[in-house]
Amino acid sequence: MTAPTTSIDYAALKSGGIIMQKDEDFYALRLRLPGGCILADLLPKIAQVAKRYGRGEIRLTVRQGIEIPWIKFKEIEAARKELAGAGLALGPCGQRFRTVTACPGLPVCRRALADSQSFALQIDRKFGGLQLPHKFKATVSACPNACSRPLENEIGFCAAVQPYMEEDACMGCGLCVDICREKALFLQNGKPQLDETRCISCADCMQSCPTDAWKTNRMGYAVYVGGKNGRHPMLGEKIADFVDEEQGMRIIERCLDFYLQYGNKRERLGETIRRVGMDEFKAAVLQ
Ligand code: SF4
Ligand code: SF4
Ligand code: SF4
Repeated sequence: MTAPTTSIDYAALKSGGIIMQKDEDFYALRLRLPGGCILADLLPKIAQVAKRYGRGEIRLTVRQGIEIPWIKFKEIEAARKELAGAGLALGPCGQRFRTVTACPGLPVCRRALADSQSFALQIDRKFGGLQLPHKFKATVSACPNACSRPLENEIGFCAAVQPYMEEDACMGCGLCVDICREKALFLQNGKPQLDETRCISCADCMQSCPTDAWKTNRMGYAVYVGGKNGRHPMLGEKIADFVDEEQGMRIIERCLDFYLQYGNKRERLGETIRRVGMDEFKAAVLQ
């Protein structure tokens, strides 16, 4: 049976994570899973809802989410309630601050420099679902490998560590020089020297040193803004380095103020920045 089209606000449904399929008799429910993380105990509930109300299919979205398709309009509310009863909320969609993605980070990934999951959760709790001129995506990566694609989101955080060397602790083995894939280190008079223009702050040198001669000078997140995928992809631009979580939250807040003030309807943040000017944007956001 086709849903009564005259009385349905499809945009409002979509905004709340209920997405009409091509076959208009059916809808997909999108779950809110910040960082793409879900407890194993909740998976049977998702499977149960997919079997009871859908066709037993579960789909993974490109942004670490889970969708349950093939739900009839009249059964959406029952399915939603059943999910909510298990603590599974639907994710924001449409012109809103979307569920925040993140790489696994500490303590799971051996390359991680930060707890990207907890920062993503913090961002999602504060800003997730806010109504904005257009969709707004955010992500957190825990090292410069940038697995969650911080340059392809409206705002992307990428953890980094700037090293410095305590010369007295260095025995000149050259291991760090060999390990640095960016060729940012070279030996001079038997001791490694750092070329800061090549260093990407990955901390590989620190982790390889047998005498712990490399220490942390600065650490925090690099912040990229204005990236997006889609029909006209744009890469985000770096606006800040080594910010902590508190500073990062403030940057997001000011970024949203700017977007709400200057963003046109259905204009992505990167397009707003391009139209208004990066200098104006930075002046507003990096106060
Ligand atoms: S971005 Fe770095 S820490 Fe995160 S998953 Fe990739 S390699 Fe691991
Ligand atoms: S932090 Fe990474 S890029 Fe920089 S010197 Fe060390 S290994 Fe090389
Ligand atoms: S790995 Fe450590 S000890 Fe060896 S050259 Fe580098 S800083 Fe010195």
